[in-house]
Amino acid sequence: MMSWITEFEYVVVGGGLAGTIIAEHIARVLNKKVLIIERNLVLGGHCYDYVHESGIRVHKYGPHLFHTPFKEVWEYLSQFTEWDYYQHRVMGWIDGKYVPIPFNFNTLYALLPTEFARRLESKLLEKYDYGSRIPIKEFMDADDEDLRFLANFVYEKIFYGYTSKQWGRKPEEISADVLARVPIVLSRDDRYFNDQYQGVPKRGYTTMIRNIATHKNIFVLLNTHHKELIKLDNGRIYLDGQEFKGLLIYTGSIDDLFDYKFGHLPYRSLRFRWQVVHEKQFQPVAQVNFPLEYEYTRITEYKHIHPLDVPYTVVAYEFPEEYEYGKNLPFYPLFTEGGQEAYLKYQELAKKYKNLILLGRLAEYRYYDMDDTVKRSMEIFEEKIL
Ligand SMILES: Cc1cc2nc3c(=O)[nH]c(=O)nc-3n(C[C@H](O)[C@H](O)[C@H](O)COP(=O)(O)OP(=O)(O)OC[C@H]3O[C@@H](n4cnc5c(N)ncnc54)[C@H](O)[C@@H]3O)c2cc1C
Repeated sequence: MMSWITEFEYVVVGGGLAGTIIAEHIARVLNKKVLIIERNLVLGGHCYDYVHESGIRVHKYGPHLFHTPFKEVWEYLSQFTEWDYYQHRVMGWIDGKYVPIPFNFNTLYALLPTEFARRLESKLLEKYDYGSRIPIKEFMDADDEDLRFLANFVYEKIFYGYTSKQWGRKPEEISADVLARVPIVLSRDDRYFNDQYQGVPKRGYTTMIRNIATHKNIFVLLNTHHKELIKLDNGRIYLDGQEFKGLLIYTGSIDDLFDYKFGHLPYRSLRFRWQVVHEKQFQPVAQVNFPLEYEYTRITEYKHIHPLDVPYTVVAYEFPEEYEYGKNLPFYPLFTEGGQEAYLKYQELAKKYKNLILLGRLAEYRYYDMDDTVKRSMEIFEEKIL
């Protein structure tokens, strides 16, 4: 007997940003019914936010700040949310002071003697344009002793400790690309991002994602792991016991899809310690990084992101930790050789399934910012579904 589930031609696993956006496109553009299967009790995935018992909105899996240079991404999401103006600022707690991060001219003057800072500023501006972002790698081996000093100073004070804690490895064991990205910003602009479009959804990410999924053609099954309904076997997909001839878009972990046949893909995980502080404000900006001290990497104070006039505040301390399957959650892919090898094997295996599309941070095993996720979902729809 046909169950109502087997009537769907389009099934999406995962109700995060990627899954809901692809489902919305199928529902609206193709005017087809689509089923989202989500293992959690709520939609939202990693972007999930909620109102904490203190009344302040918080982000369960770490601070999410929306920023993009892509007009089409901003306009697409703006159909589902209004935005609150928000420009992210990050400070580092370095040598007993709060200083702006990324390292800019304000940081330079805060940490080094004024005369020396002035000399460095003019040397940098002789070489580069005001406002540019120069990776420290560019002058780590410079002929000029002052510039060499500066590059190594930034490396030690800001980069080395933070990166070691974040990844649980020495930076030299990670990848030269990471170092290539550590910038000095040649201006006094303290904003963390300089994209044209920046903000946070007025009623939160969860509401925005729920709005994306409210099209009449979208059906959602919560609290359901895909394995309760979907089976993959030898190039064929089965849905609720019957062979599935439609299209499956999978946004969960690729290793889970194939029962960890080639092992668990390595990730870095995070643990959060939440605290209500009985002060109006705890720290000067939403995010303070601790590159040199403590076990945690950063503290987020959510009131700066979602202002509320109350005499207390909520902060989250963030502790990076090893990812252990079943114990904590996979946050950031760890780019080890073995991990990449296993991922490629999974990817190869996925090619056997002609009606399977892998999409999103877990299925594609890569870090995507939210705007990349939106863009990727739109592109996959255009290229593989339309
Ligand atoms: C700590 C952290 C901070 C971040 N901060 C920012 C930021 O400031 N700005 C920014 O732009 N981006 C940020 N991001 C990135 C952002 O979180 C991602 O771009 C986005 O969440 C990716 O969405 P997704 O749908 O691919 O994955 P997810 O959000 O992980 O969604 C996957 C969904 O699938 C479900 N699922 C998984 N497996 C199964 C299964 N087998 N069966 C059923 N359901 C399943 C999950 O429960 C989840 O709901 C951050 C990421 C992290 C880790």
